Amino acid sequence: MARYRDSVCKLCRREGQKLFLKGARCYSAKCALERRDYPPGEHGRLARFRRRRPTDYSLQLREKQKLRRIYGVLERQFRRYFREAERLSGLTGENLLVLLERRLDNVVYRMGFADSRAQARQLVQHGHFTLNGRRVTIPSMVVSPNDAIAVREESRKRYYFKERVEILDGQKVPGWLRLDPDGLAGRMLMVPKREDIDIAVDEQLVVEYYSR
Ligand code: SF4
Repeated sequence: MARYRDSVCKLCRREGQKLFLKGARCYSAKCALERRDYPPGEHGRLARFRRRRPTDYSLQLREKQKLRRIYGVLERQFRRYFREAERLSGLTGENLLVLLERRLDNVVYRMGFADSRAQARQLVQHGHFTLNGRRVTIPSMVVSPNDAIAVREESRKRYYFKERVEILDGQKVPGWLRLDPDGLAGRMLMVPKREDIDIAVDEQLVVEYYSR
């Protein structure tokens, strides 16, 4: 399966905004955006002085790219999410955000089992989680209300998860999720609403991008 393999910090520098793709490092002084606040590439430093007024199209494109990169979804799959969001009733932009938020890798990340969505994705792919008691390996699976997510019995013996119990003890999870830190498990209580999703992206611009 294709995936982005270059430095993810370049993506933040391209957007000029922290996308929090690396976990703890994003909150430290080591964050690449703190140290090099200009786009990547040979002429990135000069781009700061050449900034022109952005066009509507470029604003829409940048919001779309931001959202796609935050959730680590490639273009073709992202477009499928958009089509699905259009089919659902309600606001397409909100539907899109909710669909992305309900991805299994995102739920694992939101529960605190991983420091970033990329790490959560890898943990899921390596089969460390169960969904309603069954082992799962597909990060894009959609989680529904009442679904139970847990660390697989065999994986609990691993150092990573033994250490994780302490981190999870102080973990704050969104109101639409419930976490049992000692049991290394959690449950989705309800479908999140827009106000539950702390993503600084204007989803309406994403809708406009695909509606051109
Ligand atoms: Fe982005 Fe995190 Fe890298 Fe900073 S450390 S540039 S927030 S991915």
